[in-house]
Amino acid sequence: MAKIPISLKEGKIAEPKNDELIIGIDLGTTNSLVAFANDNVPKVIKHNEKSALVPSIIYFDPEGQIIVGADAKEKLVSEPSRTIYSAKRLMGKSYNDLSAVQELLAYNIVDTNEEELVRVKVGDTYYSPIDLSAKILGELKRTVEKELDREVKKAVITVPAYFNDAQRQATRDAGKVAGLEVLRIVNEPTAASLAYGIGLDADAERIIAVYDLGGGTFDVSILHLQAGVFEVLSTNGDTFLGGDDFDRAIVDFWIDTFKLDIKDGNKSFIQELRVSAEEAKKALSTKNEFEKEVNGVDLRITKQEFELLIQPMISKTINSCEQALKDAELTTTKIDEIIMVGGSTRVPLVKESVSKFFGKAVNDSINPDEVVALGAAIQADILAGNQKGILLLDITPLSLGIETMGGLMDTIVPRNTKIPSKGNRQYTTSVDGQKNLKITVYQGERDLVEHNRKLAEFILKDIPPMPAGLPKIDISFIIDADGVLRVKAKELRSETETSLEIKSQYGISEEEMATMLMDSIKNAKSDMHARGLLEARNEGNSMIKSLEKFLRDNREFLSSEQTDMVENLHQQLINLVAGDDKNKILDKISEINKVTEPLANEALTRIVSKELISDK
Ligand code: ADP
Ligand code: MG
Repeated sequence: MAKIPISLKEGKIAEPKNDELIIGIDLGTTNSLVAFANDNVPKVIKHNEKSALVPSIIYFDPEGQIIVGADAKEKLVSEPSRTIYSAKRLMGKSYNDLSAVQELLAYNIVDTNEEELVRVKVGDTYYSPIDLSAKILGELKRTVEKELDREVKKAVITVPAYFNDAQRQATRDAGKVAGLEVLRIVNEPTAASLAYGIGLDADAERIIAVYDLGGGTFDVSILHLQAGVFEVLSTNGDTFLGGDDFDRAIVDFWIDTFKLDIKDGNKSFIQELRVSAEEAKKALSTKNEFEKEVNGVDLRITKQEFELLIQPMISKTINSCEQALKDAELTTTKIDEIIMVGGSTRVPLVKESVSKFFGKAVNDSINPDEVVALGAAIQADILAGNQKGILLLDITPLSLGIETMGGLMDTIVPRNTKIPSKGNRQYTTSVDGQKNLKITVYQGERDLVEHNRKLAEFILKDIPPMPAGLPKIDISFIIDADGVLRVKAKELRSETETSLEIKSQYGISEEEMATMLMDSIKNAKSDMHARGLLEARNEGNSMIKSLEKFLRDNREFLSSEQTDMVENLHQQLINLVAGDDKNKILDKISEINKVTEPLANEALTRIVSKELISDK
């Protein structure tokens, strides 16, 4: 067993100086906002005269200018295909995860089933969800910098408790692209409790339920707080449930009730309905009915009708609360406090239902839109060393991951993860009958492994021969409390397994670490560019292989024009993959998908009918 000395523990980041400003960001599906603590008191920063909330909406004008926030929201109706909302829903997702919602998104999600992560196409440019979130983070960064008249480089960003590794990593990357070093990713419910001051008083012991219903996500977390230490007892929720769904229910109600025509070409009308539905919902939080004329239709809804529509969704959230309690092995009477988070908790029926379930009045004294950002600012203040006596657990100072196709760094345990900790991810082979897989472990923040620090290398041997893509290889990283990293690789279908231990003995110096972090920020832009290109090339190469296989398998069924066309596209793609224009490669892949699908179907039909004939 290889033992490579490397310190994960000693190499801690130097304590930041006290005058250093670290901001707290709530990067929401619907609204984002930024806060920072001054003399230990957090406050949100206004984005305009009216509000601190920045709608998480990005408008790309045809001249290349980008607008984020309320002004972009106005473009939802007039220019739906250039106006991106709910980008957080796309973070770390594949197209297949999203096909159900494409209908409701007025912009263009690129539909190539081959690829892992979605992209959004605006005009001629492809944007990853990371790029999109980075635009929002950049806007928030500028807002603070303008307000304080100084540069800001560090941030704490919150994510829903249910975000998986890929989504958390995507959020970190977005920070990096926006020029922010993300010191920590914090769960939204944890931030909310901090905002309520719970956990800051070292003597208090409490059990809290945090109920967060935002625009796009719902989660409930049961937290135990003692001696300044947070422990998450359980979490539950739904990453696809929120106020957007209330709006959608109203839109559907109107379409049904008023027999509205929403067929093709009517995307901007749907948008207009959506905006009006939100208006209606907000009004119904304080009034009994809503009425508005849109496109000559008199849209109406009463509070009672609205409550009937959303009742099933609220019930779902209550079921989650029940499950979370069960998982924590608690009953409602054990809950000391219920914290309401997210704009949708302003709906009276939501508050009533939650308080009825827990048998107690809910705690909603802090603005539910701001509470997460305020908590993030407190967490930032703690990290800056301004709040004494608060326990911070040990963390991994640099990300740990492995090399994947094209020399890309794939992070398995992100930096600043509390240890002990565990992370795993599944991979597969790229060549038919591949028997061995080399696993190279790296440490660092750069997108290309060549810029990171190589820790170890080992080979998973004797994978039984299978077609490329079939083996399921699970790679797990386990870091124990002493900072020892164990890497295990296992082919799940055949149970082939191998592992190695990387021991922490000698430290990587703080200077080295600082340099690595600085480099990753300095090179963020070019790294992201390189990554985008490499990913596009990987996709291109797999498409080239598929085309070759397609030609081999179907040549006898294709006409000579069809064969020529496919061969032509094949050659064009080879040429593009050799070049360095990511967008051109992706365009060509989309084109090939469109062209070859009918051909594949046709070929299939001919094979089937040929078999039928030869059967006789
Ligand atoms: P997210 O965390 O998903 O970004 P927010 O916490 O900002 O979301 O909540 C946004 C949601 O809250 C939206 O669906 C919005 O319509 C809803 N919302 C805001 N104010 C009200 C209100 N007064 N009544 C009902 N819903 C509201
Ligand atoms: Mg939120």
